[in-house]
Order: sequence, then C-alpha cells, then structure tokens
Amino acid sequence: VTEFSASRMSACKRYVPGEQNRGRSYIRLNTNESLYSPPQSVIEAAARAAATMNFYSDPEAVKLRQAIAQYLELKPEQICTTNGSDEVLDYIFAAFADKDRPLTFPDITYSFYDNLASLYDIPCNKIKLSKDLRIQPKEYLHLNSNIVIANPNAQTGLCISNDAIAEICDTNPEHVVIIDEAYAEFERISAVPLLARHANLIIVRTFSKSRFLAGARIGYAAAGEDLIRELETVRYARNPYNVNAVAIAAGSAALAEADYYMEYWSRINKTRESFKSELRALGYEVTDSKANFVLCRHLEKDSGEMLDMLKEKGFLVRKMSGRISEYLRISIGTEEDMNALLKYM
Ligand code: PMP
Repeated sequence: VTEFSASRMSACKRYVPGEQNRGRSYIRLNTNESLYSPPQSVIEAAARAAATMNFYSDPEAVKLRQAIAQYLELKPEQICTTNGSDEVLDYIFAAFADKDRPLTFPDITYSFYDNLASLYDIPCNKIKLSKDLRIQPKEYLHLNSNIVIANPNAQTGLCISNDAIAEICDTNPEHVVIIDEAYAEFERISAVPLLARHANLIIVRTFSKSRFLAGARIGYAAAGEDLIRELETVRYARNPYNVNAVAIAAGSAALAEADYYMEYWSRINKTRESFKSELRALGYEVTDSKANFVLCRHLEKDSGEMLDMLKEKGFLVRKMSGRISEYLRISIGTEEDMNALLKYM
C-alpha cells in the first residue's frame, strides 16, 4: 500500500498463480492446463482472426455467445462471455455481493474467490469441508448469503449432486448460487438443466481446462436473462471489448469440434483413473477426483520435499497449503507424462 492508494487496497490480497515454465522446459502438471493441443481448426480460426486485429472485437461476441447457447440449449441472452472465467467471477461478485450481501464458500476450494472478495470488501463465510474433504450440502441451506461452489470442487475434484444444488438454490432464494463448473465437462457434469427452474442459479464455465484453451482466456456465465442482463451492465461499465477477436474465433471453432473433445476427455478420464490406482498402490491417499487433476498425500513423504524432488526431475506439480498442506495436486497430462512421473512418486 502506498500513500497514494485507495482505501480498498489495504484489504486486497493477490492470487498467486502456479509457477510457469521459465528458464527450463518442465512438464507442467501444476495449473490444470491441458497437455493436449486444441484442434487444428481452432488454431486456424484463431490465425484468421489475428489477421484482422486492426479492428475491435465484437463487444457482443455474438458468434461465441451463439455457439455456447446452442451447445447448452439456452438463449444467447442467457450467456455472458468474458476474458477467462476469473473475469466472469469478478462481474458476478461486483453485481451481486457487497458488505451487506456476503459470500459463502468451502474453506478448501479455488482460492481466487477469497482474493476477489478482498478487492470488493465482501465478507466471506468459509464452511469447512468434512474430514474426507467433501462438501456437506446440508450446511449450505438457509444461509441468507450468496454461495459459490466449484463442482467438481477445485483442489479435491469431488462433486455434489444436482439435487443438492437445487436444494441450496431453493433455500437461499434471495441470493445467487454460483456453481463454478471449470472442471465439469470432462465427466459431462452439468447443472445447466437446473437453470429452467432456479432463477438465482449462475453457472460459470471456462475454455481453459476442458477446451485446451487456457491461453486464449475464454470464460462465461450461463443464467436466467435477468441475472445475465445485470452482468452485461457490469461488463459494459468495465470493459466492453472484454473478449478479444482471436478468442471469439477460437472459442466458437472449439464448440464445433465435439468429437475431438469427447475423445480427449475420455482419454484424460482414463489416464486419471489409472493414475489414481497406481498412486493408491504406492500407498497414497487419493480423492475420487472427477476433474483433470488428482489430489493425493503419502503419510510418510513430505509434500514440500516431493515438490522439490519432482521439479528437479522436470515436473511441476502443486503443493497445497493450510489445512491440506501435506497434499500435492497433480494435473493429468498424457499417459506418457503420468507414467514418467510415477517413477518418482
Ligand atoms: N474456477 C476454478 C475452479 C478454477 O480452478 C479456475 C482456474 N484455476 C478458474 C475458475 C479460472 O479459470 P480461467 O480464468 O482460466 O477461466
């Protein structure tokens, strides 16, 4: 904080991104990116769009919104597209949360929720996961608070059911319930069918994980038209050209490649399941993750030492902190990557 800083800066906490590939070529298993490339058609669509970068991008991102709406069987008016899903979380918090409209989320989840809340001075109520690291949906009923739940949950990869989500929406009717589906597409998990019956539900998705487009920065919210209109007001107040032209082209092309992604999702799921079994055979405790990562710990191995040793061997993984500091979170790469890693586990 400087003598020039606005008062909000005193509470503002930075999110710490995963370590990047600088100086050495690591196998990056620390930020839940895909180690598979996007389809060639997506790369070509992005290149074509790059040739007309002298023009502004479409502030309505019509092509992308229509493609998403068609994919989810919703109306384009139910979609707000953004520069990564971090940005749509920002719009949601700005639109629906403040000192009097607090936010509730699990103590172990995507840590960015906490950072973003600190910028807006939003009080956060963190509900502890159970001992086996599960969300107990009953603890989210009648809270009189906005709620954000990543499903599958970040860090653990564990899921709650759509029935549980519906009950959380029904019992918190004066607040929004944000379901962050960043990791949902791998197993085709989706609360989208609930949108028809729950006016306070907002679903957040990203192209960073399951569409192999983390660097393109594409995210969106799907919700009822009234909530989306509010997010669009924030968007037009803040950054009307928020999704760049290359991202609009890449994202819409990606949604035309259903077969490509289906094939890779089943490959990633298969690799994850066999990696989980191998880890368990080596004595690790592993959560039953449905995402493109696993969370594991070994009772006799120090996670900090493991992190350093794996880095030395050329693998970046994520060491967790706080209540789960003995755990490592490892993204699922190719089968060869995971087999190579297992040698050092
Ligand atoms: N939600 C969750 C649960 C995440 O883990 C992440 C990325 N780590 C995001 C949202 C943000 O992703 P992006 O901004 O790349 O869309």
